[in-house]
Amino acid sequence: MTGLSAFNAFTRGLKEQEQIMPVLFIGHGSPMNGIEDNLFSQRWKKMAQEIPQPAAVLVVSAHWMSKGTRITAMDFPKTIHDFGGFPKELFDVQYNAPGDPLLAKETAALFTTTKVELDHDWGLDHGTWTVVRHMYPDAHIPVLQLSIDYTKDPQYHYDLAKELYQLRKKGVLIIGSGNMVHNLRMVAWDKMDEPGFGFDWALQMNEQFKNLISSGDHQSLIHYESLGKPALLAIPTVEHYLPLLYSLGVKEKNEPVRFFNDQAVAGSLTMTSVKIG
Ligand code: ZN
Repeated sequence: MTGLSAFNAFTRGLKEQEQIMPVLFIGHGSPMNGIEDNLFSQRWKKMAQEIPQPAAVLVVSAHWMSKGTRITAMDFPKTIHDFGGFPKELFDVQYNAPGDPLLAKETAALFTTTKVELDHDWGLDHGTWTVVRHMYPDAHIPVLQLSIDYTKDPQYHYDLAKELYQLRKKGVLIIGSGNMVHNLRMVAWDKMDEPGFGFDWALQMNEQFKNLISSGDHQSLIHYESLGKPALLAIPTVEHYLPLLYSLGVKEKNEPVRFFNDQAVAGSLTMTSVKIG
């Protein structure tokens, strides 16, 4: 399919909107946030009320890493309980939002740097449904996921995200779902119930991440390994960090950013989230 015919195919689907859709990065934290009515989940709910109702939601979740990039393309994505050791109540959750096979196809056609495969096996993992069910409890808005290619470096992901920009004009809400500071090996289990407790390096990185995001210094965020030891403690593995680069990749240069759920949890995690636009 040529670029032009891909564009024509895309225009048959969702209409262009007057205003472009904001973009979110959401720190999802513990899967328990999926069933808890707490400050984080309440803020997600409120955020959905503050922004225009999207035509569809596309989530880049930390919990779907694959070889190559894939997009969910089924009519009804299943709810994936990709965790262990949690109460039955969490395993019982079904979030029955529809998919949107046509939008999946149109989105795949937007990419020029790689071939995005239509996926019929995945569904909605907990990086998606624990958040989106609070935002859209009626499950009436189609939800899609885009996977993260684990063979590629951060710069690649940031650049690839730019190819999703058109979706914002069509009223699609793009959400990167991960955690900026996420070190499960260093979790202070005895401080789980102490709101805002963060180790010095975690709090330092939280501030530094926010400063770099506010000042638009995306290159430093892409090359986080140059930010020193605190950054390496905050990002021992990239999967929870890369969704942030997808959210920043679809940002327009002068768009405002706002932070919410700006809080450390259990020492080595932050829930800090970003609204762009
Ligand atoms: Zn996670």
